[in-house]
Amino acid sequence: MKVAKTIESVRSFVKAARIDGKTIGLVPTMGALHIGHISLIEAAAEKCDFIVVSIFVNPTQFGPAEDFEKYPRPLDIDLKICENKGVDVVFAPTPEQMYPLEKLTWVNVEKLTESLCGRSRPGHFRGVTTVCAKLFNIVAPDIAYFGQKDAQQAIVIKRMVADLNMPLEIVICPTVREANGLAVSSRNQYLSERQKKDAASIYESLQKCRQMVDGGIKDASEIIAEMSRILKQVPSIEIEYVSIVDAGTLCNIDRITGKILAAVAAKLGPARLIDNILLDTTGQ
Ligand code: AMP
Repeated sequence: MKVAKTIESVRSFVKAARIDGKTIGLVPTMGALHIGHISLIEAAAEKCDFIVVSIFVNPTQFGPAEDFEKYPRPLDIDLKICENKGVDVVFAPTPEQMYPLEKLTWVNVEKLTESLCGRSRPGHFRGVTTVCAKLFNIVAPDIAYFGQKDAQQAIVIKRMVADLNMPLEIVICPTVREANGLAVSSRNQYLSERQKKDAASIYESLQKCRQMVDGGIKDASEIIAEMSRILKQVPSIEIEYVSIVDAGTLCNIDRITGKILAAVAAKLGPARLIDNILLDTTGQ
């Protein structure tokens, strides 16, 4: 496995693989790799013959009061995980490598970034789309892999790629969870065992939503009230939002119809956690 710290070196490794006729898969991450990231690497291995994992804690997607400084950066462990998984190249640039100049050019997807996490994290998605556009330009993958765990991010990236005719395919992989339903996340490291138990109620609230939708309930506010009730039973959870949105537009809906996304964001002690489920009620 090669470790590329510079744009030049990752480009030269990918160029050689492309000359060999290989299909290039990219898994963009911020490191502190876990089984969620590994599932993306495994999905890439199914379709691609050359896998690049990027590990970059991207400063432009963190707000001033967020956890950029303390975000975990266990690079040596991450490299071992990648090596064991048969990754070909890890691209681990410094912020100076990625942003050598004053940042004047941004990629921004409108509307889809205004709801859900976009409300409480102004500028976050602009940072995500800009760094992903840069990674796509640097690595030039055939396919890039993202997780459903960050549903809004996945939808926004897909839209950027479509709108800007970027020549790659975006594959979205299912959310990997702990045994108690908690979505695996690098930020779960911030949680105590007690908090991890408490955090399971986020998934519980989403499961409740699924049950109610399956049971034919059409009033979104009734479902949101029930989800909120479950979350409020856990005093340590501070709800940021409990939303049911159209899975295409990410706008709030009153009536359950078509493809919907139920999404929760909550603070639990030092961690901000997000989770979601996608439900297709077409034909119900
Ligand atoms: P991050 O390192 O948190 O920026 O995540 C990198 C990629 O891994 C993103 O596409 C995430 O959506 C994805 N990811 C993170 N957690 C999970 C999970 N539990 N299941 C599936 N994908 C995940």
